[in-house]
Amino acid sequence: MILCLMLVIAAAGIVFAARYMRTEYRSVSDHFGEYAVQANEGILAKDTKKKLKQSLYVPRKIDTSKKLIAFSFDDGPKRGNTERILEALDKQDFRASFFILGQNAKEYPDIVEKIYKSGNEVSGHSWSHPLLTKLSQGGIKEQQDKMNDAISKACGTTAVSFRPPYGGINDNVKQVIDGPLILWSVDTLDWKTRNAKNTEKVILEKAKDGDIVLMHDIHKQTVEAVENVLPILKEKGYEVCTVSELLEAKGVKAGKGDVVISAHQVN
Ligand SMILES: [Zn+2]
Repeated sequence: MILCLMLVIAAAGIVFAARYMRTEYRSVSDHFGEYAVQANEGILAKDTKKKLKQSLYVPRKIDTSKKLIAFSFDDGPKRGNTERILEALDKQDFRASFFILGQNAKEYPDIVEKIYKSGNEVSGHSWSHPLLTKLSQGGIKEQQDKMNDAISKACGTTAVSFRPPYGGINDNVKQVIDGPLILWSVDTLDWKTRNAKNTEKVILEKAKDGDIVLMHDIHKQTVEAVENVLPILKEKGYEVCTVSELLEAKGVKAGKGDVVISAHQVN
């Protein structure tokens, strides 16, 4: 009888835990979110962090009471550097957006797949980094299509969003590129200084809730800066996330032709 009672209590406990400890994940965008939430259902039934990390692009539950900063890395991927950044992010349970060049995706498809499978955001940065404002609509489209072709071959999906090289935007770019154009609100100038301490300083002094930070994963000094700065940001109560996660958490809707500077500024 007592054993029976204990079993009932234990069963009730399991049902309670399964019901209330399950994490609800937010959708990233309307069409993609639906898929991701469905994917999460299966994963969350087992609910271990390890399984989540192995899954495809999973928008994490964003604690909106936290200060959020989106990290973005352009021009990669690059062997060694990008993988180190992925490890540093994972160590803190952070994620970031990678604005990938199609020609590099073709060269390093395994790294693109790693970015995608580790729950980071695969975004696009053209095929070969031209100034798009100098191209015809056909030329811009060719850059987008070739890029997406290489990204799809690497990870099975096209870029979530797009950042034009040099931030170059005109009406042709707005008309041709699918989805919003993602710029940045904090420029680390990491490509120019090539100095980890300087990059860290810019991030810690300038980045605040809602910002999008621009970096380049092709420079080893940037990798070093990221490895150093992530634990500090965590200690300060920041959550480092992807651009899509930031916009979703802040309730920002951005569509084709919109220019996103930060969660506080969409033009
Ligand atoms: Zn670039």
